Amino acid sequence: MTMYTKSIRQYSQKLPPDTMEFLRWLAGVYAKVKKTTYERYSGIGSLGKLTPGYTVLNEMRASGMRQELGMPVVYFELAILDALAAIKSRWGVLRDTLKRLAAFHEGFTREDRTYIYTILKWGSVYAAILQGKPYEEPKLVKDLPVDKHRLNNWLRRQTRKRLGKIQVTRENGFTVSPKAGYSYKNGIMRIAGQKPRKRVEIPLRDERRFNRQLHVELKEDYIILTAPVTKESSLPEGWTNEIYVHIGNVDALTLSNGHVYGERLNKLTDAETERLDRKNRLRSQHRDAAREAQTKGLVDKAAAISANNLGMMKYRRQKERNRARTEGFINAALNRMLSEEKPCRIVITHPVKVGKGGNLAKSAQRKLARSFRGFIRDRLQEKCEEYSIELVRIASKGTGLVCSACGEVGCTTAGGRFRCEHCGYEAAASLNGARNIERKYRSEHG
Ligand SMILES: [Zn+2]
Repeated sequence: MTMYTKSIRQYSQKLPPDTMEFLRWLAGVYAKVKKTTYERYSGIGSLGKLTPGYTVLNEMRASGMRQELGMPVVYFELAILDALAAIKSRWGVLRDTLKRLAAFHEGFTREDRTYIYTILKWGSVYAAILQGKPYEEPKLVKDLPVDKHRLNNWLRRQTRKRLGKIQVTRENGFTVSPKAGYSYKNGIMRIAGQKPRKRVEIPLRDERRFNRQLHVELKEDYIILTAPVTKESSLPEGWTNEIYVHIGNVDALTLSNGHVYGERLNKLTDAETERLDRKNRLRSQHRDAAREAQTKGLVDKAAAISANNLGMMKYRRQKERNRARTEGFINAALNRMLSEEKPCRIVITHPVKVGKGGNLAKSAQRKLARSFRGFIRDRLQEKCEEYSIELVRIASKGTGLVCSACGEVGCTTAGGRFRCEHCGYEAAASLNGARNIERKYRSEHG
């Protein structure tokens, strides 16, 4: 029996415009505080301040930022703590990366590795080395026959190289804590407002009550509350199959045994891209017209064009609705796959990395498809945790253009088919991909 964390969601009812306006303002200033915290404390110089974090809280309190923004204390401090958690987790990831680098570094001896691992484990020593400050060596490494100067330089260099800035993703929400942040009265949730003791009412769609931190996500005219809950998970009885899955844009999930789930996902995404393209073209025409009117001094006309045609509300609401529909389609496909295939292990590939030099697809269609592939992966991982299914990711190399029947290189045709000139094998490219995943996994794992 293992534990897994699942997010449970609760929806608000439709909220009045002034409530939504307040929430949007709050999400905006919340994101500002997070961004400032990242900028000030994500560097090497602040490493010592991150745990337990009082220093950061105190410095931010003294900065006057909260008063400037007119922000309630409870949200201001949660925003700082949110940012701190993100910074800490990024340092954790970085340390894991360095550990892995050291493990595969051919120029390192076993003692070199022991030294690096130990330093990385001792946060304060690692911080002191990065900052060039004096420190006391951990006992474990005192007598190691290694060139510490060289290894410390390696640590500093690799850290600087990989630290990078945290990307502040588009924030559309905030965190709220019980009591000071929210409470219930007469069955209605009330969250702290901009003025002290003035709470904002959030009527909910069901009767559940929470007593923990909640994340609030803003939608067009309602909100979604999410709370992480820890549950027990175990593999359902009789789930003993191993499946090899290709995740695609045309069909969501194609298995090496030929079964397909989420067939013609592209029908949904293509229609949506087309609609967005059409909308965007129209909007840019209106924008040009408005600009032209403006330059001719026709202020009223310009304002009228903007008001009538450039409103974001309807546009966003439609987009959101379509997104929700596509996500629902994917969820249903995943659930059907699990209940019919009864897997204990699922093998997929790592996502193909689109790095700096890579050819990042710019068209809206590619972008949308990529984002839904990401959604499929995330949901699949959640489901695997929920049911204790082992999820294995292998490198995608050799699963694309290689023929799954004979191993020679073949080609794909415009219709998403794969064809091998060598042996004549022909199939949907996604099926060939899934069969390659199976072949590759089996050859590597006996
Ligand atoms: Zn072939």
